[in-house]
Amino acid sequence: MTETYYNYINGEWVASATGELYKSINPADTEEVLGLFQQSNEDDVELAIAASESAFGEWTDTPAPKRGNVLFKLIQLLEEQKEELAELITKEVGKSLREARGEVNKTIEAMKQFSGEATRLNGETAPSQNNNILGYTIREPLGVVGVIAPYNFPLGIGIWKIAPAIIAGNTVVFKPASNTSLISVKIMELFEQAGVPAGVINMVTGPGSAVGGAIGNHPKIQAVSFTGSTDVGLALGKAVTARGAKMQAEMGGKNPAIILEDADIDQAIESIVISGFLDNGQRCTGTSRLIVPRTIAKEVTEKLVKRAERLVVGEGFGENVDSGPVVDQNQLNTYLHYVDISLKEGAKLESGGKRLTDNGMDKGYFVAPTVFSNVTKDMTIFHEEIFGPVIAIIEVDTYEEALELANDSEFGLSSTIYTNDLKKAFHFVRKIESGVTHVNMPSTYFENQFPFGGKKASSMGPREQGSTALDFWTDYKTVYINP
Ligand code: NAP
Repeated sequence: MTETYYNYINGEWVASATGELYKSINPADTEEVLGLFQQSNEDDVELAIAASESAFGEWTDTPAPKRGNVLFKLIQLLEEQKEELAELITKEVGKSLREARGEVNKTIEAMKQFSGEATRLNGETAPSQNNNILGYTIREPLGVVGVIAPYNFPLGIGIWKIAPAIIAGNTVVFKPASNTSLISVKIMELFEQAGVPAGVINMVTGPGSAVGGAIGNHPKIQAVSFTGSTDVGLALGKAVTARGAKMQAEMGGKNPAIILEDADIDQAIESIVISGFLDNGQRCTGTSRLIVPRTIAKEVTEKLVKRAERLVVGEGFGENVDSGPVVDQNQLNTYLHYVDISLKEGAKLESGGKRLTDNGMDKGYFVAPTVFSNVTKDMTIFHEEIFGPVIAIIEVDTYEEALELANDSEFGLSSTIYTNDLKKAFHFVRKIESGVTHVNMPSTYFENQFPFGGKKASSMGPREQGSTALDFWTDYKTVYINP
C-alpha cells in the first residue's frame, strides 16, 4: 500500500484541511507511486506561518554560533545517510546514481561553508566624528521567511536555502517542488534529527500557485528565496517586493559555450557533454548554445554527435548509466515540443530528437541527448530555455560575433569559453553578460564558497551561496553609543 505523508508544522506531521492528496511517481517507471502528499492550500500556509512566528522569539535569542551547531550535526547525518539519500534522489527525479551522489556531496560542502558562517555574522565599526561615541552595525534576522524550491536539485537547493536562513536567526516556511515531495519529507526529518527546534522550519506541500502564491503574498513573510522558472520567479518577485518584502530569485538560463579555433577540441567536447547532457540538461547552468567558428564547426559537430551517441541513457540505478529519465510528462512534452519547433524552423537534427522506448524505457520519460546544427539567432531554440538535453550549434566567422551572440539573450546565468588565448579569455570574462563564467570548464561547475547567481532575467536580489548568502537573510542595524 502506498504511504501517505504530511505537512511538517510546529514539529508535527499534520494533514491538510483540504483532505486532498497528490502522488509523487518514479519517472523511470510511471506506474510506481512513491507516496501520497498533502494537497494543501492557503489555510495550511497560515498554520505554518503561525508556527514560525511562535518559534521566532526563542530561536532568534539563541546565540548564532549555537544556531550554527545544528548544521554540524546535519553534516554528520548527511555523511551517514549519503547512499540512502542518493538512492532517494535517483528514485524520485530519475538522476543517475553518480549524479545523485554528487548532489549529496555538494550539499555537504555547502553545509560545511554555512556552519562556519554562524560565527562570522559580523557587523562593522568605523571611527566616529566624536571621541565619545562608538558607532557600529549588527546583523539581525528578518523574521518569518519563505523558501520555494525547484525539482532539479531536490536535496541540495532546499537545504542550502534553509540552512543560511535559520543560522541567521529566521524561521522558515518551506514549499518544495511537488514532484520531489518525498525527498522534501526527508529534508524535514534531517533537520529535526539535527536538533532544529519545533516551528523553526515548517513545510507545506501542494500546488505552486496556491501554496507558493500564499507564501509570496502573506504580509508576515519578510523575505522569499525562490529557485525555478523565470516566468514564475518574476511574477512572484513582483508580488513580494510590492509589499516591501525582500526577494531572491534564481531562475532560468540559455547558457552559451564558445569554442575557439586554438582550443583543445577533444577536451572541450568532454566538458560540453558534462554541462549540456548530464542530468538530462535539467540544470539551470547547463550549456544549451554552442557557438563555434565556421572553420571548425564540422569537426566539433561530428565529435559532439559521436560522444553524445556513446552516452548511456537508462534507469538511474543501472550500471554505467549517464542519464536517467526527465522528471515528468511536462518536461517530456517540453523537450518534444522544442524538437518539433526547431525542425520546423530549419535547424538540422544531427542526433537524438526523440523519446526512447526500447528495453523497457517506454515505462518512463526517457529521451535521447540531442544535437541541432545550423541554428540561427532568429530561431526559438536560440532564445528559449528547454531544460532538456538539447545543444544548439551556431556557426560564426569571428570571436567578436561569437561574443555578441553569446550575449544576445534575455538570460545571463552561466557561460564558458574554450581557448588557449589568454587575451581572449580575459576579454570574454570581462564582456560576457553572465553571473557565473568559466574558461576551459563546464558551465555547470560551481563551488559553494563562492557567490552564485545570474544577471538579466536569470536572477533577482542578492546572490546565494558563499558569504553573500547571509546578506539576503539579515538586515543591518546601525548603533551609536554615547557611554
Ligand atoms: P517551476 O515550475 O518554476 O517551480 C519552482 C517552484 O515554484 C516549485 O516549488 C513550484 O511548485 C513553485 N511554483 C510554481 N508556480 C508557482 C507560483 N505561481 N507561485 C509560487 N510558486 C510557484 O520550476 P521547476 O520546473 O521546478 O524548475 C526548473 C526551472 O528552475 C528552470 O527554469 C531552471 O532554469 C530553474 N532553476 C534555476 C536555478 C538557478 O539557480 N538559477 C537552479 C535550478 C533550477 P510546484 O512544483 O508545485 O509547481
